[in-house]
Amino acid sequence: MLLAAIAGAILCGPGFVRPQNLWAFGALDPNPPLETWLDSMDMRVRKTVSRLMEIPTGRSLVVSAAESGVKIEIDGSAYYDPAANAVHLDEDSNRNPALVAHELEHARQRKFGMRAGRRAELGAYSMEGRVWVELGVPLRQDGSQLSSINDGMLQLWARHPMTAYWALGLRRTADWPPISNSPPADSGDASLEESYWLELSQDECRWRDANAGKLAEIYAPPSALTEQLAVDLSFAKGEGSLKDGIQSAAGISEWMPEFLEELLLMVERGGRSLEWPLPGAPTALDRELLNRLNRPNRVTQTPSGQWNIQLSN
Ligand SMILES: [Zn+2]
Repeated sequence: MLLAAIAGAILCGPGFVRPQNLWAFGALDPNPPLETWLDSMDMRVRKTVSRLMEIPTGRSLVVSAAESGVKIEIDGSAYYDPAANAVHLDEDSNRNPALVAHELEHARQRKFGMRAGRRAELGAYSMEGRVWVELGVPLRQDGSQLSSINDGMLQLWARHPMTAYWALGLRRTADWPPISNSPPADSGDASLEESYWLELSQDECRWRDANAGKLAEIYAPPSALTEQLAVDLSFAKGEGSLKDGIQSAAGISEWMPEFLEELLLMVERGGRSLEWPLPGAPTALDRELLNRLNRPNRVTQTPSGQWNIQLSN
């Protein structure tokens, strides 16, 4: 169900209407809730929030959080507590605008009646990625402290978004119940999640269109992208998130991220062809990844040596 569930993530087809100046929020809003909210903030995170206010996506998240009276506490953890409407941050995350944006998006999701879960996480990663790009992609290589543990994920998201969402969606953790699970009777409505995701993915389409230049400039070497897929696969297998022991050279083929992106897009758009050639011989990890596509498939090799993947319904 996941492929169908992420429909629209980046399917920005013709007929798409450019938003009317969606990102122009104008001068500092003199709105008292925003000023009061900022004044009441711990100085450590205030600095980070100020950076968020300098960029369009960050500013919209800050305005939303101020309007909802979201509390921000630095207490050594990093999560959003919907019951208390409080974002909890640790020493790392409170200095990182992208991670703060991730948690503020969880706070914004509360307005939509969203439950915690995969959709909520994918939405939060979308906002984290947008802030990361709008800030000029602070990466570890720059020696910047703005970078996060999510660099690899964000590089993959920037370059191959369908693949990034699909791979993130493979993860099996307690916090991420599968999207296909029916919501518990007392904790929300699946249609709210649908409409949240639809709105967010359409918004991401517009954002990608407006930020195409910045996205194209992002440094994302093949090794970072394949390593990220290996990490997601490791999560999917319940092995946790550690990159230890994953050797990208012996792991996932360099052609895999781009191949997956094309395959996922084709399937999402209702592609009927059931067989595609693989660009090369698949490694064991390549095969494991392909086995997790939501359509049954078989990898075969022709007598002439060409590798193919056959998808069935
Ligand atoms: Zn989250």
